[in-house]
Amino acid sequence: MSMDYYNTRELQGKQSHDPYFIDKMSNKSSSSSSSSSSSSSSASSPSPSPSSRLVVCGPVIVGAGPSGLATAACLKLKGVPSVILERSNCIASLWQLKTYDRLRLHLPKQFCELPFMPFPNDFPTYPTKQQFIQYLDDYATKYDIRPWFNETVASAQFDPTLGFWRVRTTGVKGGDETEYVCRWLIAATGENAEAVVPKLEGMTEFKGPIRHTSLYKSGEDFREKKVLVVGCGNSGMEVCLDLCNHNARPSLVVRDTVHVLPREMLGKSTFGLSMWLLKWLPMRLVDRFLLVASRLLLGNTSRLGLYRPKLGPLELKTLSGKTPVLDVGTLAKIKSGDIEICPAIKRLKPHAIEFIDERTEKFDAIVLATGYRSNVPIWLKESDMFSKEDGLPRTPFPNGWKGECGLYAVGFTKRGLLGASMDAKRIAEDIERCWKAEAKHCTPFKASLFPLSSSSPPSL
Ligand SMILES: Cc1cc2nc3c(=O)[nH]c(=O)nc-3n(C[C@H](O)[C@H](O)[C@H](O)COP(=O)(O)OP(=O)(O)OC[C@H]3O[C@@H](n4cnc5c(N)ncnc54)[C@H](O)[C@@H]3O)c2cc1C
Repeated sequence: MSMDYYNTRELQGKQSHDPYFIDKMSNKSSSSSSSSSSSSSSASSPSPSPSSRLVVCGPVIVGAGPSGLATAACLKLKGVPSVILERSNCIASLWQLKTYDRLRLHLPKQFCELPFMPFPNDFPTYPTKQQFIQYLDDYATKYDIRPWFNETVASAQFDPTLGFWRVRTTGVKGGDETEYVCRWLIAATGENAEAVVPKLEGMTEFKGPIRHTSLYKSGEDFREKKVLVVGCGNSGMEVCLDLCNHNARPSLVVRDTVHVLPREMLGKSTFGLSMWLLKWLPMRLVDRFLLVASRLLLGNTSRLGLYRPKLGPLELKTLSGKTPVLDVGTLAKIKSGDIEICPAIKRLKPHAIEFIDERTEKFDAIVLATGYRSNVPIWLKESDMFSKEDGLPRTPFPNGWKGECGLYAVGFTKRGLLGASMDAKRIAEDIERCWKAEAKHCTPFKASLFPLSSSSPPSL
């Protein structure tokens, strides 16, 4: 394949590119007789393939969720334009497309704001999903962030010869390949990129619907049905409550120990109170306080079949990333018997489920609240910064945001939006330093090594 097959596209607008880089590429393009094309000539290029393009740019951010938006905004405020590549057709696709209707932020709004823009005063303490999406839309508008949608990053690899990252995307339905060449690559694909669906024995035999929470919208679809919810994190607990509120009959599989805490204590959010106490007291003492207060407010949860882990909620979160459940009313429904607690599943039968205690019960549907995982190992061709096992940075918080050769991670701290905002600010500061230094010294891009007009261009 020769360079004729590429349509080299410049980035438009304020959120565009490293001018020096583009310049080099354009000069090289125009000097290479008829073979390559720049943005202005791409339409009349002799024989560009409509399905292959080459784009050269400044920082590339993969993912237009809250983390990607926060990073683009922080970079913009430092005068560094960036490009966001997003696989879906909207910002915050997790929130817009994969969450249930009754969802609200689990944490108070002041702990979920993105850098430099608080939530509106008239938003409640726990904004609804729609309000959060509105906030993110306003954020993108305020900072003029315009992600490139329907661009799934299939691979990203550092090219040591060029000294740049080569990021390959595919468009809708796998068509329209584009290769981006950039100095900085920011992974913002999130800890929740792919649904985790466990393999259950007899899964193909079960006759009712089996739905992951990413596809669950409302209990309306399950009215009068007996539904087994698998997984007792925040989503599983809340889905059970939603099912109750829609006159379905939910049961909850609880395999592991779990910390359930009231969402609020002493008129304050449990999360906010914990953060405040941590300023003065050691974590173990704060954990003791949380457990005593929870016992007083919620009672002994182990009597309901919800056994607490040995480590306290904050220590467990710090060491394993496991988030405590903040109760929004589910526990009352468990106490009243509206939600039944079940042990682990042994196997599924056509209309029933057998549990490990040999009990078999009839069920009409299953909801899998079995969580999500990072997809970084699928597309990022490196294994120093990110673990191949869980797709998260190997270096623990707060130092996991920076890798080698201009690689960064935002939103992989297991600390929600607060952690993402911290990462975004650090990344922007770091890139700004290099950006300014490079602009000063004008380190030449090794364009001569990039075979723009040769007969063996980089393969897509
Ligand atoms: C139900 C639920 C409730 C939550 N509530 C809270 C809360 O109250 N407070 C809080 O702080 N956190 C909460 N979280 C955690 C949540 O993950 C973060 O709030 C936030 O969505 C993380 O943002 P992100 O941008 O890192 O990831 P995401 O929001 O997941 O965004 C990542 C983006 O990357 C895109 N992407 C993935 N792979 C590719 C690829 N190969 N190429 C191109 N694009 C790609 C995705 O389409 C997505 O748009 C909640 C999570 C869930 C699931």
